[in-house]
Amino acid sequence: MFASLSDSLDKTFRNLRGVGKISEKNITDALKEIRLALLEADVEFTVAKTFIEHVKEKAMGTEVLKAVKPGEQIVKIFHDELAELLGGDQVPLNLEAPARILLCGLNGAGKTTTAAKLAGRLKREGRKPLLVACDLYRPAAIDQLATVGGQVGVPVYTPDTSESDVVKVAQDALSWASNQTHDVLIFDTAGRQEIDERLVQELQRLHSFLTPGETLLVADAATGQGAVSVARHFDEAVSISGIILTKLDSDARGGAALSMRAVTGKPIKYVGEGEKLDQLFEFHPDRMADRILGMGDVVGMVEQVAARIDEKDAMKSMERLASGKFDFYDFLDQMKMISKLGDMKGLMGLLPGFNKIKKQLPDAAFDPKRMKRTEAIVLSMTPDERRRPEIIKASRRRRIAAGSGVDIIEVNRLLKQFGEMRKMMRSPGKMQKMMGGLGGGM
Ligand code: GDP
Repeated sequence: MFASLSDSLDKTFRNLRGVGKISEKNITDALKEIRLALLEADVEFTVAKTFIEHVKEKAMGTEVLKAVKPGEQIVKIFHDELAELLGGDQVPLNLEAPARILLCGLNGAGKTTTAAKLAGRLKREGRKPLLVACDLYRPAAIDQLATVGGQVGVPVYTPDTSESDVVKVAQDALSWASNQTHDVLIFDTAGRQEIDERLVQELQRLHSFLTPGETLLVADAATGQGAVSVARHFDEAVSISGIILTKLDSDARGGAALSMRAVTGKPIKYVGEGEKLDQLFEFHPDRMADRILGMGDVVGMVEQVAARIDEKDAMKSMERLASGKFDFYDFLDQMKMISKLGDMKGLMGLLPGFNKIKKQLPDAAFDPKRMKRTEAIVLSMTPDERRRPEIIKASRRRRIAAGSGVDIIEVNRLLKQFGEMRKMMRSPGKMQKMMGGLGGGM
């Protein structure tokens, strides 16, 4: 989402870093470029202006001009101001009992998906959420919530299709839930194409009945400044407590994410970065500033990996490798783990500097189809072949290729790769080096 902004910033800062002694003119010129880059990224005009003024004020300080590495100082000032613009510290959810979260937003913003993502997250954190369907206009929306709720293993309270009063639905849901053990209720409300009087009134009634600890607007970051104006309107209607920005994985220009906090004064609490139900992440302003500046978000990456891979599985696999065993069963386990990581490119985008090398990487390196074919080849082997791949000679290779529906060239390639991996795994020096590199003291 911030690719072209990151590119422009990178260029400007590289120039600044290259200058041995910095003058006020250097700074003014650089800030002009940055201001343009922000506007091109669709950041609101006044937000960009004020932001640049703040950076300028700090950057013109004598300490910067006299610093040994003035360029670095300015990058730091910019980074800290950016984190401030994005909201400063991360703002956690208010889950004080009775924990009620009201989600609102326009149709298509990702409300229902986000409701399930959030419920799934809270469940992983040890809570017992209940999803409540409060969209009485579209029966399909209720079904959709039931489906995604099922996918994250969270129960969904669905109203009677004849019910037309949303407050009554909420009342029934509360009284039903009072006999259950749920400790946080998430209400998914009806959306519209655009904000209208009826939607606002209904939302206000529901809001004053529930008095939720959190009223979160789900807004589509890809709609740019539109998302910011939607946030302003919803805030006027029901006084939102925070924002969940969805579709940060899109190619849109990212200005919404940057202006949202400054314009509405409300914190972004989570961001959606993909259609998968585990792709909702806490929003950390400082980490986002790192990302925008191409410094990566390694903490975020480790968290994402940890959420998707079972640590025990990973350790088991590592132990087998360390003991010198490595067959196609291990290979398959590893592939499964990697495929659980899902969107590899998105994940690797959190590595420092990755955006710069991204263009040079072949797409095949992240191609799930290719991984599927590899898996098919391994599955077409007999158990004995998987354990002792050295027995796979020409006729067996032909059989495996036919069984998995791939060309024999691919089978040969896989066996060759596997042979090389195995050689490496069995060489104790190399293995130790690898484990050392991973920080594992085995
Ligand atoms: P609602 O009308 O607001 O309830 O929106 P939905 O939950 O039905 O979502 C609309 C579309 O946006 C669906 O296709 C979702 O899969 C998609 N979507 C939701 N969040 C994200 C996200 O963070 N990234 C991407 N790429 N798609 C998303």
